[in-house]
Amino acid sequence: MRTQVAIIGGGPSGLLLSQLLHGRGIDTVVLERQSRAHVLGRIRAGVLERGLVDLMIEAGVGDRVQREGIPHDGTVISHGDEMFRIDFTALTGQPVTVYGQTEVTRDLYAAREAAGGTLMHGVESVEIQGADTDTPSVSYTLDGQRQHLSCDFVAGCDGFHGISRKTIPETARREFEKVYPFGWLGVLSETPPVHEELIYANSERGFALCSMRNANLSRYYIQCRLDDRPEDWSDSAFWDELRRRIPKPQAESLITGPSIEKSIAPLRSFVTEPMRWGRLFLCGDAAHIVPPTGAKGLNTAASDVHYLYNGLRQFYEDGDSEGINRYSEKALARVWKTERFSWWFSKLMHRFPDQSEFEHKIQLAEIDFLRSNTAAQTAMAQNYVGLPY
Ligand SMILES: Cc1cc2nc3c(=O)[nH]c(=O)nc-3n(C[C@H](O)[C@H](O)[C@H](O)COP(=O)(O)OP(=O)(O)OC[C@H]3O[C@@H](n4cnc5c(N)ncnc54)[C@H](O)[C@@H]3O)c2cc1C
Repeated sequence: MRTQVAIIGGGPSGLLLSQLLHGRGIDTVVLERQSRAHVLGRIRAGVLERGLVDLMIEAGVGDRVQREGIPHDGTVISHGDEMFRIDFTALTGQPVTVYGQTEVTRDLYAAREAAGGTLMHGVESVEIQGADTDTPSVSYTLDGQRQHLSCDFVAGCDGFHGISRKTIPETARREFEKVYPFGWLGVLSETPPVHEELIYANSERGFALCSMRNANLSRYYIQCRLDDRPEDWSDSAFWDELRRRIPKPQAESLITGPSIEKSIAPLRSFVTEPMRWGRLFLCGDAAHIVPPTGAKGLNTAASDVHYLYNGLRQFYEDGDSEGINRYSEKALARVWKTERFSWWFSKLMHRFPDQSEFEHKIQLAEIDFLRSNTAAQTAMAQNYVGLPY
């Protein structure tokens, strides 16, 4: 079998890249380890930057997100019972769009299917060969048969635990990592959101986030211990703890219901450099991870896709290698800025187990500064709505 771009991983990065390249007549094969139902069942991101919505429109999958996505002109930050709002639209001219990652993926699957794209689920033992030569290839096992796929380029869109990053020899890559000493316990419930915008809550008991997917689907998180397990938290224990961490009026008006999903995500900052090795390009979580506080994971995956798509388009349409040669440099320049923002916002909003009283006072002073200073709010808003590509 042969294709122009072999894409490993059928998550949002791989699907979006495949669909964008298809629009330019560039052939791809997507190899996904899991079933489609499994990929669609993963409850993850929910806040989209304008850049990702624009890419979806360019990929021909923008109808539903423009129709059903909920524009958010701002967000609320609270400490104890004090709340203030950061007005994204007033400060930057742009809102963000609330639309679940599952929906982004669903739209992309539908489009790939309608276009007759080759997307294989349930592939095992994927290996990349010859990425540092002009004739790379990928082998994999499907239905017990070993298969071989020759290609011009390989896009490693296979997430943090994928094989693409590990294909790059250790001597050719550097990894930078910060692991946070807590996790996020998330609950999805078929209840109306407690507030029309997201609430990021810094409380003496730890961080909480009130988020949503639509008018009757809420996503709530509380900071938890790293060794907590979802089964340690009954629904009522979760709701009680959430109420203690958000301002009183919201705690009193919170509508609770049975959780339809409950999971714990550890928080990590991670970057690998470079994001290209020969004809292998890393994209999205395969190359970097952010703590979810700034809603940047999916959005940063999208900005990688933007740079790689345009680089490959330039290569195939104009015979120009400039875009792919500069892919790693351009993607990383933006990645590090989103890493910085996600780290800063996480540091501002969480209680750290080893936090001294001094550090806690500094944190509160910074929240107060953000509350009262337009320049600080503008910097926050610019980062949250998404830095330009
Ligand atoms: C629990 C959790 C919660 C999150 N919450 C948020 C959030 O609230 N906000 C936010 O912005 N971001 C969030 N993120 C991050 C966001 O979901 C990711 O940044 C986004 O999914 C990245 O997309 P991706 O396509 O690069 O990687 P993934 O979505 O990880 O997709 C990679 C795909 O590759 C497949 N794969 C892996 N290995 C192989 C292999 N060897 N062969 C073939 N296929 C393979 C996987 O099955 C997967 O489908 C969250 C992430 C997690 C894990």
